Amino acid sequence: MRGKLWVSAIAVGGILICVWGAGHAQEKEKAAAKKIAIRAGRLVDGKSEAALTNALILIEGERIVSVSAGGAAPAGVEVIDLSKATVLPGFVDTHTHLLLNGDITAEDYDVQLLKQSIPYRAILSARNARIALEHGFTTMRDLETEGAMYADVDIKNAIANGEVPGPRMQVATRAMTPTGMYPLLGYSWELQVPKGVQYVDGVEGARKAVREQVMYGADWIKYYSDRRYHFEADGVLHSMVNFTDEEAKAIVDETHRLGKKAAAHAIGSDGIAAALRAGVDTIEHGDGLTDALIDEIARKGVYWVPTITVGAYVAPGRGGNWTKMVDLEKVAFQKALKKNVKIALGTDAGGFDWKEVNQAKEFGYYVNYGMTPMQAIRAGTVVPAELLGWSDKMGTIEAGKWADLVAVSGDPLKDITELERVKFVMKGGAVFKNDVR
Ligand SMILES: [Zn+2]
Repeated sequence: MRGKLWVSAIAVGGILICVWGAGHAQEKEKAAAKKIAIRAGRLVDGKSEAALTNALILIEGERIVSVSAGGAAPAGVEVIDLSKATVLPGFVDTHTHLLLNGDITAEDYDVQLLKQSIPYRAILSARNARIALEHGFTTMRDLETEGAMYADVDIKNAIANGEVPGPRMQVATRAMTPTGMYPLLGYSWELQVPKGVQYVDGVEGARKAVREQVMYGADWIKYYSDRRYHFEADGVLHSMVNFTDEEAKAIVDETHRLGKKAAAHAIGSDGIAAALRAGVDTIEHGDGLTDALIDEIARKGVYWVPTITVGAYVAPGRGGNWTKMVDLEKVAFQKALKKNVKIALGTDAGGFDWKEVNQAKEFGYYVNYGMTPMQAIRAGTVVPAELLGWSDKMGTIEAGKWADLVAVSGDPLKDITELERVKFVMKGGAVFKNDVR
C-alpha cells in the first residue's frame, strides 16, 4: 500500500515536471522564433490564377505569418531580397525511392540488393535526400525501400530530427506482392536472396502484413497490383494481376482501418481496374488507363501519379514495349486532364539515378502533354498536399502554412524548365540554399 502511494506521488511529480518542461520549451521557442521577410519580385502562391508582383512574405519560426502586396518589412526583421526572382511553394514529389539508385535493367537492381548492405544504401539515401532538397523538393512520399526493409523510416526520422538535410517525408516501407511476383528472381533455389518487397499471401496474411508495416512506421501501404505488361489485339495495354480481389481488398481495408492510405503500382489496364476495385487512394504509373478507367478514377476521386520521367528514362534501355507505353501514357494524360482527374506529380526518382536526372523535369513533361504551366505547378504543390492529407500545412504560400519556399530566376509561367534551375530553397523557415544574384 505504501509502496503504491509512493509510486503515485512520483507519477504526479513527473506530470508536473513535464508540464513545466513543455511550457518552458514553448517560451524558449517563442523567444528564438526567427522573423524573416522575403521580398518576392514575382509570387506564384499556388492559389491565385496569376502571379502576384512585388509581394512581401513574413515568416516567423517555421511558419508563414502573412503575405501582402508590397509594403515595407517590419523594423529589425531579416530581409531576404528575391525581388529579381519568382517565388513558389516548395515542390512535392509523391513517388520516390530514396533507397534506389537507378534501375534500368534487372542487373542494375540485383546488384544493389546483392552487393550493397542496407546501411550503405541508407547512407546513399541521405545523399539523395539532400539532392532532392537542393532541387526544391521540400516534401516527398517515398514509395517503398526496394529490399531495404524499414530504412525509409530511419531517413525520415533523421531528417525530421535535423540530423541530415532533406524533404519532409511520408513513407511506405516495404511494399507487397504475393510470393514470387517481384525480384530478386531467377536464382538457384538453394540460395536465400533478398526480396525487393514483402511477400504476402492470403487475406489473413495481407491484414497481418499491413499491421506489421504500420507498426514499424509506414504512413502508406504500397502494393504491386500487376506485372507483365503487354499489348493485345484491342490495342489496350494489359497485365497480369498479382493479388486476388479478396487479398487486395484486405490490404486496402486494413490500411484504411488503421487510418493509413493505400497506393497501388498499376501499369496495365487489368492492374488499374483491380486496384480501383480494391479501393486504393492513389494509382501509380497508370500507363494503360482506358477511357472507362479514366472515368472511374475521376468519379472515385482517386489520385493518379503518372511518373513520366522514369518511363522516358528507362524506355531506351529496357526496349520492348516500354517506348510504346510512354506514347500511350501521353494520350491517357491528355484525356485525364480533360476529365479533371486529380493528377499529382510523381517521378519514380530512384528508378533513375538521383545524380543524373533532376526530378523537376516532370513539370516539363506535364506542360508538353497539355497542362498550362500553372496547372503543372499545382500538380507539384497543391494537389500533392491534398494527397498527403497536409493541405492545412503546405502546398500554397499563405498565412499559417509551413514556410517551405523555392525561388527561380526567370518566369516559370513562360518557361517551365526554369523549375529545373532552383536557386533558393527554404524549408520550415530555414534557408537551405540561396544562389539568387
Ligand atoms: Zn516506384
